[in-house]
Amino acid sequence: MSNSRKRAIETVINREPIVPKLAGPKVSAYYASNVFNDTSMREFLSEDAYKAVKEAMKSGKKISREVADAVAAGMKSWAMSKGVNSYTHWFQPLTGLTAEKHDMFFTPKGDGAIEVFGGDALTQQEPDASSFPSGGIRATFEARGYTAWDPSSPAFIMEIGEGKTLCIPTIFISYTGETLDYKTPLMKSTAFLEQAALPVVHMFDKEVSRVTATLGWEQEYFVIDEALYYSRPDLMFTGRTLIGDSPAKGQQLEDHYFGSIPERVYAFMLDLETECHKLGIPVRTRHNEVAPSQFECAPMFEEVVVAVDHNQLLMDLMERVGRRHKLRVLLHEKPFAGINGSGKHNNWSLGTDTGKNLLSPGKTPKTNLLFLTFFVNVLKAVNEYADLLRASIASANNDHRLGANEAPPAIISAFIGSYMSSVLGEIEKRVPNGKYDELSNANLKLDIHNKIPDVMLDNTDRNRTSPFAFTGNKFEFRAVGSSANCAQPMTVMNTIMGQQLLDFKKDVDKLIKDGESKEGAIMRVLRQYITDSKRIVFEGDGYSEAWEKEAKKRGLSNVKTTPYALDFFVSKKAKDVFVKNGIYSERELEARYEIMNHGYILKIDIEAKMMVELATNNVLPVAIDYMNKLVTNVQGLKSVGLPAASFKTQKDVIAQLATHVNKLSDAVDKLTVANDNAHKAKTTSLQAKAYCDKVKPLFEEVRSHCDALEKLVDDSLWTLPKYREMLFIR
Ligand code: ADP
Ligand code: MG
Repeated sequence: MSNSRKRAIETVINREPIVPKLAGPKVSAYYASNVFNDTSMREFLSEDAYKAVKEAMKSGKKISREVADAVAAGMKSWAMSKGVNSYTHWFQPLTGLTAEKHDMFFTPKGDGAIEVFGGDALTQQEPDASSFPSGGIRATFEARGYTAWDPSSPAFIMEIGEGKTLCIPTIFISYTGETLDYKTPLMKSTAFLEQAALPVVHMFDKEVSRVTATLGWEQEYFVIDEALYYSRPDLMFTGRTLIGDSPAKGQQLEDHYFGSIPERVYAFMLDLETECHKLGIPVRTRHNEVAPSQFECAPMFEEVVVAVDHNQLLMDLMERVGRRHKLRVLLHEKPFAGINGSGKHNNWSLGTDTGKNLLSPGKTPKTNLLFLTFFVNVLKAVNEYADLLRASIASANNDHRLGANEAPPAIISAFIGSYMSSVLGEIEKRVPNGKYDELSNANLKLDIHNKIPDVMLDNTDRNRTSPFAFTGNKFEFRAVGSSANCAQPMTVMNTIMGQQLLDFKKDVDKLIKDGESKEGAIMRVLRQYITDSKRIVFEGDGYSEAWEKEAKKRGLSNVKTTPYALDFFVSKKAKDVFVKNGIYSERELEARYEIMNHGYILKIDIEAKMMVELATNNVLPVAIDYMNKLVTNVQGLKSVGLPAASFKTQKDVIAQLATHVNKLSDAVDKLTVANDNAHKAKTTSLQAKAYCDKVKPLFEEVRSHCDALEKLVDDSLWTLPKYREMLFIR
């Protein structure tokens, strides 16, 4: 066995499942045991310190130096009681990953050492911001960045092998105060949304004093064996296979979805769930996905900031726990061509402190009006700001999914189901444009009320092709990529909804001022919004060509690639809604735009280089080697006097090989030149567009010859694990 592919296959075939480290049959016995939650705070903090943290969690009130010292002392005692000896600030820089810088508690003293952890260490660290993307914010000022404790997310203990580290969730900002992370804008957007939502809720219900956005993500991922992974440099360096011929059996048989979970993957899942539960991540659902070797896990929904933290932690845990099982988890949106990619559905809703889900139909006509108000305002927000939603999910990886007839299209539309469609239709038809009529209103409300409970049935009438679907009591934003930090799309969702609710209140108040009744005003404004937002509602097949045409007629954008979608982030509309509401400053928006474009360039550049490398070092030598074998064979047959007819097949294959070898070599040259040229555009955004329009299209050309050669070459010579091996050997 000479080549790495064969060694890898042999390794995989001989693997035994690794027994998961379960913590016990009852999850409740260890759930959140590694979280500094309310119970541990009560145990380890003084009454004053506890109250101060609770207050800070609720209102964002600053914590004094003395209290910080007291909290740090309590946190340290708790952590040490669990065998922890180091700590880190844990944050979400714009790399998309999480970042940590570990420090130990101990400090030498006299001829020994003591464990210390004070308020300073708890509240602030100074990681060098120059090591993280800052979009130029840093260049004109100092390299310094600060991580600052975010008391609203609980500290937790990360266990890695025998090591245990106290992780303190923090935000990450520059020396001059600009945000350099995903989390801070998300927190600002939730506060903004709450402020905008409360006055609207109060029109119906004065009891409510808090409104929070909720998120339940569904994480899709692929799993492959580590040995196969290490034999595919493209997977290692780009997260996806850049070449590879489609296997005879892909997902055509549709036998994987909800099928039985392979044993090694099942062990990995049990282990992962245990780690999640200790960290208070409420994962509850696991199943196979549509593509071979594709899986999904989903938690109970949570308040959006906590949910985002938990998803980031989950992605981190997946990687670590996967390694324990000699598996690699692929979070890339499109690791394999020809089969489905992975997304991360973001189920989003709004909840009140009185336990009401604002997107859940009510039990009486009055509460239904509250539901309708929020429901219609979501549609209006999506209609007004569809382009921002599109931009919020843009990435080089996700471009492979969106509009690829397997995931939502790049056109943002909303699916609401037949019942809600007819309810909105009734309102549009029956609410008068002019002064409101109380009697017909009463009838209408009854009619609507009789209809809405049926919405729940609508759950079955699912439309998988919609990027944004109402699923009975929440909206499901399906276009989010599997590797994305959900914070960005959620920040956009919260912000546009907040702005929409402000506009709604203004519109209603104006009618009331002009003498309309409160209910009349609400109904009339909703009616207008329904008319305004119709173009965004689409119930048909989002994958169809007919929809592309129809969407164009409706004036909806259909931006298929990232560098063009990102432009929406710096449009006047984006600046208006983000800057005015204090979510991003103009400078922060520009910086993020720069960072995202730059990230795109890096991705395509690395892929281009990797492609050249694979073609040159893996594909061409093997193809030429095989050609030589055939040539030797033809010469041998000739030398023993056989006629040309006896080596016709060999000659044919040699000719085909020669054609692809030469065309591949030309394509590689073209790709190299295009890649060099793309750097030359003036701005980062133009460079990104050059990579998109000039470099990326050549990938297909290179790939087609590589894949044709894979088909032709003797299987025993091929060095890269093939699709059928990566997808079906476990
Ligand atoms: P699906 O059929 O899409 O799997 P589920 O009902 O299982 O639908 O829910 C999927 C996700 O939606 C879960 O994470 C769940 O917690 C979440 N979810 C349910 N209700 C809400 C809500 N009010 N807000 C946010 N997410 C929610
Ligand atoms: Mg779902």
